[in-house]
Amino acid sequence: MDDALELVLSKLEGVRQHGGYWMARCPARDHEDREASLSVARGTEQPVVFKCHANCDRDAILDGLGLTLADISKPREQRDDGRWTPFGEAIAIYDYVDEYGTMLFQVCRTLDKKFPQRKPDPARQSGWTWNLSGVRRVLYRLPAIIAAASAGTTIYIAEGEKDVHALERAGATATTHASPAPMSSSSPITTSPAAGTQPISGAACSLSRNLSGSSGRPPAKTRPIT
Ligand SMILES: [Zn+2]
Repeated sequence: MDDALELVLSKLEGVRQHGGYWMARCPARDHEDREASLSVARGTEQPVVFKCHANCDRDAILDGLGLTLADISKPREQRDDGRWTPFGEAIAIYDYVDEYGTMLFQVCRTLDKKFPQRKPDPARQSGWTWNLSGVRRVLYRLPAIIAAASAGTTIYIAEGEKDVHALERAGATATTHASPAPMSSSSPITTSPAAGTQPISGAACSLSRNLSGSSGRPPAKTRPIT
């Protein structure tokens, strides 16, 4: 059973189950309820919905329960499997991980090509904060990039995560970084906000040493590090 539904039912008196819903005495303060006027059910959009048949308003019922709307609502960001963003639903979500594969932040892509970024935030009900302040910035696919750099494999810098995935499907190793601006050709590595942190500098050095030997043909709009 949903937690919110259970929570509401636990605070009601005279609860009786009728098939897929429950009836209980209305908890609203101004409602002297002798015959269980409140119906409670699992909602399709929300974990719990209720209605007083004496037409008490929602806030009066919540007041009587000692709950707030937030207590009985799913966090906005969780209603759609984490696809909620401030700019509309994400059609793709990209994990940026550290060298050990631990997720540091995510870049979401919306239908109209907004790229909101978020970091995990256990203190928030949604689990996310929509900025990257204080977050270590890393190149996309960092573990694979480090491995390719030490193996001397060519690494392609793509304009975005979607292109990285396309290159990977073609068997190449590719990366990008989570900046709104595409990488400039004059400074492919220093545009990475993570340059300067030790693991990235190491990878960057290996990258620049291994740039000559290229294999495979990158798609248009993508170029190997030169
Ligand atoms: Zn009522």
